[in-house]
Amino acid sequence: MAAKKLLILPGDGIGVETMAQVRRIIDWLAKKRQIEFDVSEALIGGAAYDATGTPLPAETLAAAKAADAILLGAVGGPKWDNLPFHLKPERGALLPLRKELELFANLRPAVVFDALLDASTLKPEVISGLDIMIVRELTGGLYFGEPRGIETLPDGQRRGFNTLTYTTSEIQRIGRVAFDLARKRNKRLCSVDKHNVLDCTVLWREEMIKLQQAEYPDVELTHMYVDNCAMQLVRNPKQFDVMVTENMFGDILSDCASMLTGSLGMLPSASLGAVRADGGRPALYEPIHGSAPDIAGKDIANPLATILSFSMCLRYSFDMAAEADLIENAVKAVLKGGLRTADIMQPGKAKVSTTVMGEAIVREMEKLA
Ligand code: NAD
Repeated sequence: MAAKKLLILPGDGIGVETMAQVRRIIDWLAKKRQIEFDVSEALIGGAAYDATGTPLPAETLAAAKAADAILLGAVGGPKWDNLPFHLKPERGALLPLRKELELFANLRPAVVFDALLDASTLKPEVISGLDIMIVRELTGGLYFGEPRGIETLPDGQRRGFNTLTYTTSEIQRIGRVAFDLARKRNKRLCSVDKHNVLDCTVLWREEMIKLQQAEYPDVELTHMYVDNCAMQLVRNPKQFDVMVTENMFGDILSDCASMLTGSLGMLPSASLGAVRADGGRPALYEPIHGSAPDIAGKDIANPLATILSFSMCLRYSFDMAAEADLIENAVKAVLKGGLRTADIMQPGKAKVSTTVMGEAIVREMEKLA
């Protein structure tokens, strides 16, 4: 079988440093497990702008379209803050990349590692063992609906407006991603809407119910209003398994859920496109943090969010659950053993660099394998 094509986009700032640790794992898998990827690397963000005058060069986009999966570090930094909007790293590279690949499903796991229970602002008993997955629709809803704009009314007032729209097919395709995930986990899906106020989410709920009845009778479907959901996420987050919701609701709820775990440096994400005829699908994996210019170049960033993004890639794009488990178990063991990067440092633990953390994960994989 041809090796899977993995495109690595380190980007800017700490993206470069954290991605170097993923490279160690890729090398280990090749050497010790005979798992060879067809790995290539390309420029994106500020680094691409400096080298080519654009944050998303045509070669990078072409490589992204040809890849089986993409692993992204982070983009941006003060050096490029004053560029025109379309050349800024985030606006000029990430948004067009997501749009070109039609990445409509954003997966944000929120997992609490026992060793880091104290990093959360919530009580340990509320979050201990937490493992939930939020599926956010990423290319429709209130952020993209038309008409939108700001207009001047006859009486001289100004009026701003956006439109919340979803078609049945948009609801069905995000619904299938969420139901499929729930089926592989604990078979419970909570669809979050505002059915009591917004017509668009009346349709959302109706379509989710139809989909469950037609294709996923084995998955339990519940519904929750978004305001209640925000409350339940901090009151009793362990009641959830997989959650699916509209773009803006998901933007807010997924950030809220990420803070249950306490640290930006630990959180991976995935964005998926539609399944192609050959069975593959466009997929971009990235940590949720940015390029952290304040700590870039110092070898102190936490590489675990990027490493866990790679394990999501193995699990969801390459069907390599055993290797994904191995990486995740190595992360748990290294944390349990007391190693910490500065962002998750606790009294009595050993503070280590980005590099030492990366090396420790590979050593632990070797031990566990
Ligand atoms: P950020 O996530 O880069 O940093 C926020 C804070 O968290 C900083 O204090 C940083 O040092 C810390 N932090 C983040 N990741 C860390 C890690 N792995 N280990 C240790 N500490 C970590 O967000 P920001 O400061 O708002 O943005 C910085 C730049 O990144 C901006 O140019 C922004 O546009 C860009 N950005 C990019 C992405 C992306 O590439 N997907 C996402 C968010 C922000």
